[in-house]
Amino acid sequence: MLKGKTALVTGSTSGIGLGIARALAAQGANIVLNGFGDAAKPQADIQALGVEAAFHGADMSQPAEIEAMMKFAAARFGRVDILVNNAGIQHVARIEDFPVERWDAVIAINLSSAFHTTRLALPTMKAANWGRIINVASVHGLVGSAEKSAYVAAKHGIVGLTKVTALETATSGVTCNAICPGWVLTPLVQKQVDAKAEALTISNDEATRLLLGEKEPSLQFTTPAELGDLAVFFCSPAGNNVRGVAWNMDGGWAAQ
Ligand code: NAD
Repeated sequence: MLKGKTALVTGSTSGIGLGIARALAAQGANIVLNGFGDAAKPQADIQALGVEAAFHGADMSQPAEIEAMMKFAAARFGRVDILVNNAGIQHVARIEDFPVERWDAVIAINLSSAFHTTRLALPTMKAANWGRIINVASVHGLVGSAEKSAYVAAKHGIVGLTKVTALETATSGVTCNAICPGWVLTPLVQKQVDAKAEALTISNDEATRLLLGEKEPSLQFTTPAELGDLAVFFCSPAGNNVRGVAWNMDGGWAAQ
């Protein structure tokens, strides 16, 4: 379905970004991966699906590096047809104890980076009259949780950016939507499970059950593959007039 298209997925060396990159590659899209850590394995995984995979290690907190990545993608593949803004970090602390440097980093990586990639991708998408922008927000783009001020602010912000992008492209073949996962067992969440296990001196399994039980009625993690399939739907012809939604896959979290 996506043969000949190019998808750039930020923060795709692990977790949800890699799951979405795999799902888009399985539909034939060439992929530009981004993120920290070893890119060789994710790149080989994507290539094994029979598409081309390039990698750019831009730090999403640095606008100049984001510009370099967008130029790299255009030089390598002609243009970016599908942009998935996924890179994100978490920091957990009460507001009065929240390190100012962590606040700035969460806002830069989880929110401002999507503004930069979007402003740089839109002109070519509009000229081609086709494009898909998918923002990986969170259920925290819809509801709050204590001790996650920067994350919740950034995720509510990206849901707002999604709506504005959708309105500014509404009469074109470019769409913009957000995905709002609940808990997904990735390195980002494993750190929170580990912190809970240590703080309460309980096992990893008990900490996992507690984490899910506090927020997610299904008591199940959403998987990167399931999120990838939602991204594929947004890119399909059935998604042509889906614009500005914040679609939660959260096991009922926001329904409470
Ligand atoms: P993860 O830690 O597995 O992956 C994060 C990715 O972002 C990695 O590839 C990492 O290298 C990259 N990254 C981090 N900082 C970066 C930077 N400065 N520049 C470039 N890349 C950077 O986390 P994940 O759980 O897969 O999270 C992906 C997205 O999904 C995030 O936006 C996160 O907020 C969101 N999300 C996650 C969950 C969850 O339960 N895991 C739930 C809702 C939303």
